[in-house]
Amino acid sequence: MFFKTIDFSKYSSIKVGQPTEVLMIEKGDTIPNDRYLIGGANNLLVSLTPPPLMMLSKDFAYIKKNDSILEIGAAMPTGRIVSYAKKHNIAGFEFCSKLPGTLGGMLAMNAGVKEYEIFNILHSIEIEGTWIAKEEIEHGYRFAKLSGIATAARFEIKEGFSQELLDALLSLRSNQPLDHSAGSAFKNPKGEYAGRLIEEVGLKGFRKGDMQWSEVHANFLVNLGEGSFEDAKYLIDLAKEKIFEKFHIILQEEIKIL
Ligand SMILES: Cc1cc2nc3c(=O)[nH]c(=O)nc-3n(C[C@H](O)[C@H](O)[C@H](O)COP(=O)(O)OP(=O)(O)OC[C@H]3O[C@@H](n4cnc5c(N)ncnc54)[C@H](O)[C@@H]3O)c2cc1C
Repeated sequence: MFFKTIDFSKYSSIKVGQPTEVLMIEKGDTIPNDRYLIGGANNLLVSLTPPPLMMLSKDFAYIKKNDSILEIGAAMPTGRIVSYAKKHNIAGFEFCSKLPGTLGGMLAMNAGVKEYEIFNILHSIEIEGTWIAKEEIEHGYRFAKLSGIATAARFEIKEGFSQELLDALLSLRSNQPLDHSAGSAFKNPKGEYAGRLIEEVGLKGFRKGDMQWSEVHANFLVNLGEGSFEDAKYLIDLAKEKIFEKFHIILQEEIKIL
């Protein structure tokens, strides 16, 4: 293992944070249990005082195909997974196309688009050396209860990459802001849309400093330039407070605040 300085104002998708020492885990290392693991930082909001961080090195960015099983390392970026699936005519990974991050982040978040979620196509996950079948892992909407760090996952290979599905999913994305964000800030409450609630309390387009509840999609907290952690946290807390006052709904963050 070794340390690497990662500047979260550049590395994270929301472009908030500062240069931070991150412990890089290599194949064969014992994974420390007193550090927070990050993937591609597409779902993170990093404060001025984050916990000690670690990250899987490129040793965990691989794809292996044996007969009917595809094994993918947890550090593999989603874009490369989709390219591989396309090249080898494998079905099921089309929805990862516009889902920025790594496989590990997708597993931990049970990331997905519409009815497509990573757990739907999953066979098993390797958690720190032990393979665990999907059925043994509690999971649901944007959540999975992993008992440790995912180092790889296996998928049963189904033939037939669908360019039509990929195109349809990509066009769905046209209602999302192009500004820097960490995806949806809140999970949708049952039977509701967090974006609608944010609009209802008048916060769509509301701005503090360079952070804003997007005018394009209210559940996206966007950074218009030099947005700070404090301003982002202020807007998150404000939305929660106003929505609780008006609807008695406690919104749950989808983004991880470190
Ligand atoms: C523009 C945009 C659009 C988005 N749209 C969607 C969407 O439609 N649907 C959706 O679900 N998400 C969406 N997201 C969020 C993001 O793409 C997913 O949550 C993605 O899975 C995050 O992956 P990551 O590698 O960046 O994880 P990170 O953001 O680095 O981490 C997220 C969580 O995963 C954990 N984690 C990371 N790697 C591992 C591992 N190996 N083992 C255990 N835990 C791990 C971290 O500890 C953290 O809790 C969007 C984000 C952006 C910026």
